[in-house]
Amino acid sequence: MSVLDNLNQLYKEIPPGVKIVAVSKTMPVELILEAYKAGHRIFGENKSQEIISKQAVLPKDLQWHFIGHLQTNKVKYIAPFIEIIESVDSLKLLQEINKEAEKNGRVIKCLMQFHIATEETKFGLDLEEAELLLMSREFAEMNNITMLGVMGMASFTGDESLIRHEFRNLKAMERHLKNKFFKDQQDFCEISMGMTGDYRIAVEEGSTIVRIGAGIFGKRQI
Ligand SMILES: *Cc1c(COP(=O)(O)O)cnc(C)c1O
Repeated sequence: MSVLDNLNQLYKEIPPGVKIVAVSKTMPVELILEAYKAGHRIFGENKSQEIISKQAVLPKDLQWHFIGHLQTNKVKYIAPFIEIIESVDSLKLLQEINKEAEKNGRVIKCLMQFHIATEETKFGLDLEEAELLLMSREFAEMNNITMLGVMGMASFTGDESLIRHEFRNLKAMERHLKNKFFKDQQDFCEISMGMTGDYRIAVEEGSTIVRIGAGIFGKRQI
């Protein structure tokens, strides 16, 4: 299967209201260009160095989503071009994004990453931390970010009912935050969940953004 075949299959299968992020981490720019030539525009990377070097050589109308743990000292390098930072996991990081967005005369879209999996290793907020962030005066004073919703990764497991439960929990937290903090903000509506192994479940559970790597570009070597 080629990148083109994989994308066409996904476009057929995934409802048009759900955005597809082609996760191109570790993949060469040649493969990204194949997806680009097929008309795909949204790509995701999880390392700042990699996204910077790829962005520099690829067409400027690609929309880049940052989906990995982001160190505050790296924000300045991606602030000029990043479309959405999906992995906001602290107030400190959000403040830095706001600062660098302002320097660039931009408003950067963000999602809060939640820890929904049973594994210890995954980054992300819990509901209480997210509420503290959203209630803070610092957040209220940010003019150069816009918060669009939530992102999460389910447990790496074959247990479909556990995965479904975790996605359902993420959606419930998004609804809760919407009601509590974003009632009047139409565009707080995004739930980024679902990867190659679990996007079908995620879409059933209300995902609005799926992040698919292997299912488009093939298995990663590393
Ligand atoms: C790598 C990655 C993906 C895509 O994973 P696949 O299994 O290749 O589809 C999605 N989300 C995040 C945060 C990732 O790091």
